[in-house]
Amino acid sequence: MTLRFCLQYMKKKVGRPPKSRRKQPFEVQGKNGAKLTKHGVIIHCKHCKAPHHNSGGCRLKKDGISSEDAKRMVAESQQAQLANQRIDEPLNAISQVLDKLFTFTLFC
Ligand SMILES: [Zn+2]
Repeated sequence: MTLRFCLQYMKKKVGRPPKSRRKQPFEVQGKNGAKLTKHGVIIHCKHCKAPHHNSGGCRLKKDGISSEDAKRMVAESQQAQLANQRIDEPLNAISQVLDKLFTFTLFC
């Protein structure tokens, strides 16, 4: 019984055995030469062009918003964020200068 069981699993497999070494990313050939890795690349959604998710996980797509509208909404929100950062930058610089002056007056 056990011998038959062993023989069943010791049958010779068909085909060439796989290599134990995995190829490095630069060794994999694509259409135009060696393939580049996606390491360090932030993915962007194909539907709305927002970073950090793909179209499979796109909330705007799930809500039924068209691709053009979604792209417009994302672009507007990004512009608003940039505008807020620009407003904050001078205020931060002024506050840093005031902090330095305050510490300077304390030590003098
Ligand atoms: Zn998206």
